Amino acid sequence: MGKKILFSFLALVIGFVGGVIGLVYINLPLTDVLEIGSTLYYSNTETSISTEAIALQDDQLSIHFLELGNKYTGDCTYIKYGDLDILIDCGSKTNSIPTVQAYLNQYVTDNTLEYVIVTHAHTDHYAGFTLKDGSIFDLYDCTTIIDFGDAYAKETNTLNRYISERDDELALDGTEGKEYRYFDASTIEKGNNLTFYSDDNKLEIEILFNELAYNQATGIDKSSSRSNNEYSVCTLITFDEKSYLFTGDLEEEGENLLVENNPSINADNLPNGVEIYKAGHHGSKTSSHEKLLQNINPKRVCVCCCAGSPEYTDNVANQFPTQEFIDRIAKYTDEVYVTTLCVNWDTDEFVSMNGNMVAIATENEEICMVFSNNDIKLKDSEWFNTTLGDGTKMRVWPTN
Ligand SMILES: [Zn+2]
Repeated sequence: MGKKILFSFLALVIGFVGGVIGLVYINLPLTDVLEIGSTLYYSNTETSISTEAIALQDDQLSIHFLELGNKYTGDCTYIKYGDLDILIDCGSKTNSIPTVQAYLNQYVTDNTLEYVIVTHAHTDHYAGFTLKDGSIFDLYDCTTIIDFGDAYAKETNTLNRYISERDDELALDGTEGKEYRYFDASTIEKGNNLTFYSDDNKLEIEILFNELAYNQATGIDKSSSRSNNEYSVCTLITFDEKSYLFTGDLEEEGENLLVENNPSINADNLPNGVEIYKAGHHGSKTSSHEKLLQNINPKRVCVCCCAGSPEYTDNVANQFPTQEFIDRIAKYTDEVYVTTLCVNWDTDEFVSMNGNMVAIATENEEICMVFSNNDIKLKDSEWFNTTLGDGTKMRVWPTN
């Protein structure tokens, strides 16, 4: 009798374990084909960073594209030049804040972010600023804030929290002898771009004129239900005659107008192209179009996304970074890098792809790229070359 119970129990356990394995297998369409190593650099419960701080010299410019500690698409770019610290966006979710903070604290020595640029009112770009008591605005002195303005953004609770957090920060103006400044990028007029310089004038931060954002902010096109993406604050950074372009989630029409309205990103004024273009809209098919690319002729492209994630679509070709984006970018460079890779959306598993990506610029030298995981180009990555169930490849690098 005792034995019978034991056997029944064992059968139950074996059955249960088998069932779980079966279930996990059924739910693992990606790991089935990817065969990624078992090491997860992050899980949804961990926000530790996988890289040691890089030793930087005061006269070097460094641009850091951050992993965000979760499976969600999002942007966060940190730029450092001496004591000057710049943050462009802080996605993807409020729970990215500890990851971003741990990273920034390796480099920010005075707890001050001299420039904070918030491109647009989508959580994958500004969630990190919206947490009550614990946002980036609460954690750092953000002395110059440049954002999309309040004129057109669709009113949501998250937007209201953002505005409240931002305005609390700006209300600190004058305390402890510090000046806090605010600029609404949507009110920049054509020909009057907002430009800031480092104390030694070697670093230039140019906030570009965005015609669609301007029209909306000044009431010309109030009827438009255009996506906030098209109102993204766009920034050109220049140092040592090399340029770096950040366009948030700007889409095709916005890109075309950006080129038409901003001489500094015309091919004539960029004889060597841009050193780095942060892929617009996470490598979406809606961004990185020909007119922009032929003017900026990018040497390298950094994509901030969780590659192959079904967050926005189940259509594999349109998951970030999309095939259409790759088809267009391949004409210019094969140096395309991606922060993170989705392993299994349902179980919150993701790994670093290139990981945190850092460009280091030293005067009169070529820039140097440092990655926290590896320096494999997107086209050579395991994910890119994965064979799908129907025999096609995940992505194809065009031959032209
Ligand atoms: Zn986005």
